[in-house]
Amino acid sequence: MFGKGLIKGLQITWREMLAQKVTVQYPDEQIPLPDRYHGRFELDADKCIACMLCANACPNKVIQIERTRVGKKQYLTKYVMRIEYCMFCGLCVESCNQDALRFSKVFNMNQYFRSRVRLTLADRPAPAEEPAEEAGSEQEAKKKAPAPKKPAGAGSEAAAGKS
Ligand code: SF4
Ligand code: SF4
Repeated sequence: MFGKGLIKGLQITWREMLAQKVTVQYPDEQIPLPDRYHGRFELDADKCIACMLCANACPNKVIQIERTRVGKKQYLTKYVMRIEYCMFCGLCVESCNQDALRFSKVFNMNQYFRSRVRLTLADRPAPAEEPAEEAGSEQEAKKKAPAPKKPAGAGSEAAAGKS
């Protein structure tokens, strides 16, 4: 009885010793993460239009957005995530139709102090005027827009007046 148990145990030991190792020596080694990994959030503040879709999509009210009206548009001034309440469900990222909010592959978000856990992804003052690029693009769009059609008789009347 004792001898059988010992042989079985040794068989398992030898099998596991020769099997492929799955343990990774973190942090020297890391397993590759999939492309759709839900890690730390990244925000491209220049793409963000402060539409609040992500904040409204979040069931835990994690996202706090501050915005200011500049010209005709809303301008993002502050974007804070109370990440301690986040469950990384991805609803906010899916709701962003500007591709401004994304997941990265960074998972190491531990902090020594609780006060440092929150993620401030944007904190900037609003410009006094609408950025020149956007104002310029609006003007270009106006130029490109087709001119309103004249009434059918208007052109012929002017031509008749000249002759
Ligand atoms: S991942 Fe889910 S819980 Fe976290 S901020 Fe986005 S919507 Fe909210
Ligand atoms: S991150 Fe996307 S959804 Fe959220 S406010 Fe900015 S543009 Fe809107």
